[in-house]
Amino acid sequence: MDFNTDDAVSRRIKAFTDRVSMLKENDLYFYNQPIEEIRGGAKVLVHGREMGMYASYGYLGLLGHPRINEASRKAIDKFGTGTNGVRTLAGTLTLHDELEETIANFKHAEAAVTFTSGYVTNLTVISTLMGRGDYVLSDKLNHASIVDGCLMSGAEFRRFKHNDMDDLEHRLEQIPSGVSKLVIADAVFSMDGDVIDLPKVVEICKKHGAYLMMDEAHSVGVLGKTGRGIEEHFGLDDVVDIKMGTLSKTIPSVGGYVAGKKDLINYLRHASRAYIFSAALPPAQAAAANEAFKVILDEPWRVEKLRRNGELFINGLKSAGFDTMLTTTAIVPVLCGSDEQAFAMTREAQHHDVFVLPVVSPAVPEGQARLRATVTAAHEPGEIERAMDVIATAGKKIGII
Ligand SMILES: *Cc1c(COP(=O)(O)O)cnc(C)c1O
Repeated sequence: MDFNTDDAVSRRIKAFTDRVSMLKENDLYFYNQPIEEIRGGAKVLVHGREMGMYASYGYLGLLGHPRINEASRKAIDKFGTGTNGVRTLAGTLTLHDELEETIANFKHAEAAVTFTSGYVTNLTVISTLMGRGDYVLSDKLNHASIVDGCLMSGAEFRRFKHNDMDDLEHRLEQIPSGVSKLVIADAVFSMDGDVIDLPKVVEICKKHGAYLMMDEAHSVGVLGKTGRGIEEHFGLDDVVDIKMGTLSKTIPSVGGYVAGKKDLINYLRHASRAYIFSAALPPAQAAAANEAFKVILDEPWRVEKLRRNGELFINGLKSAGFDTMLTTTAIVPVLCGSDEQAFAMTREAQHHDVFVLPVVSPAVPEGQARLRATVTAAHEPGEIERAMDVIATAGKKIGII
C-alpha cells in the first residue's frame, strides 16, 4: 500500500509528513536527534558539537554512576542479557525480588512489583484494578499513559480541572455511592513542573472513600529531603494507596513499579496482563535500578544540589522576564506562545549549544507552546547561568521577553 489514496489514514499521514518536512526545510525540526556521546552528566555530543543538556530526566545525574554501572555489569556476568520469559514462569530472578524489596523500603510500603516500562505500568495497573461500573478521576494534565490506562479499563472516566480540589470534590459528589472510585494524578506534572496538592487530595479521598494513585515519574529523587518523593515532601507517611513510578528518569534504567499494601501487590502479580504476558526486566536493568535507589540514599547531596539548581534556573528565567508558570521543581516550562515561536527558540538555543526541546500542541494547549527545560544535579551553577543567557538572548531576538 502506498498511502496515497484519499482515505482518512492516508490524509492523516500526509498532513503530518507535510508538517515535518516544512519544519525541516526551515531548520526548525529538532526531535529524534541522535546523541553520539554522553560526557559527564550534563554534556552531550550531537552532530559533533558539545551541548549542555537541558532536556534530560536524569534529575540526580546518576547516568554512568560507577556503582550503578558495576552492579549492571555483575548482573550480566551472572545472569546474561535477557530473562527468556515472563515473571510468572521462568523469568523471575533473585535480582527482581531484591529490586522490589528495595523499592518497597524506599517508598515506605509493604511491597512492590515491577514492570518493563512506566507506560506499561500505568496501562496495566489501572486497567487491572478498575473496570466497568467503577469510576476513575484523573487530573486534566495527567500523563498520556494514565489517560490510556483509564480508557483501557472501561471504567467511567472523569477528568477534573488541573490541581483544582474543589472541582475534584464536586465530581466525587456526583458519583453514586457504593461504587469503587480511584483518583489519579501526577505528583509533579510532566509539562508544567508544579506539584499536586497532596494533603488536600488525601483528605478528599478519605472523605469520599476513593482510592488514591500517584504517578511519581518526576518526583522520585526530586521531592522530599531524601528524595523519597511526594509523601516525604509534605511530611506525610504512607497516605497513597498506589504509589507508581518509573525506573527510567531519576533512576537510570528502564521499567516501572507500583508500591503499596501486600495484598494489592500480590493481586497485581497474579492479575495484571503486562506481568503475566510480557517478559521480565533484563538483569542489567533490574540491577542498575536496585543500586540507583541505594545511591540516592547514600549521596543525599544530589537531592540538595538539584533543589538549588532548580531554584537558580527558575529565578533566573523569571527575572529575565519569562513566564515559567507554576513550577517549583526541576521541570521548567519557558512559555513561548505559538508553536512557531517555540521552534524558533529551540533553534536559537541549540545553535548556541544549549540542548532544549519544544513542547507544542496538541501536547499542550494552543498558544502555550514552550521550551520544556530541565536541570539536574549534574549541572554546575556557572553552566546554568550560561544557558540562561543563551535563552534570554533568544527570547529577546524572537520577541518573547
Ligand atoms: C515518563 C512518564 C511515564 C512513562 O514512563 P516510562 O518509563 O518512560 O515508560 C509515566 N508517567 C509520567 C508522569 C511520565 O512522565
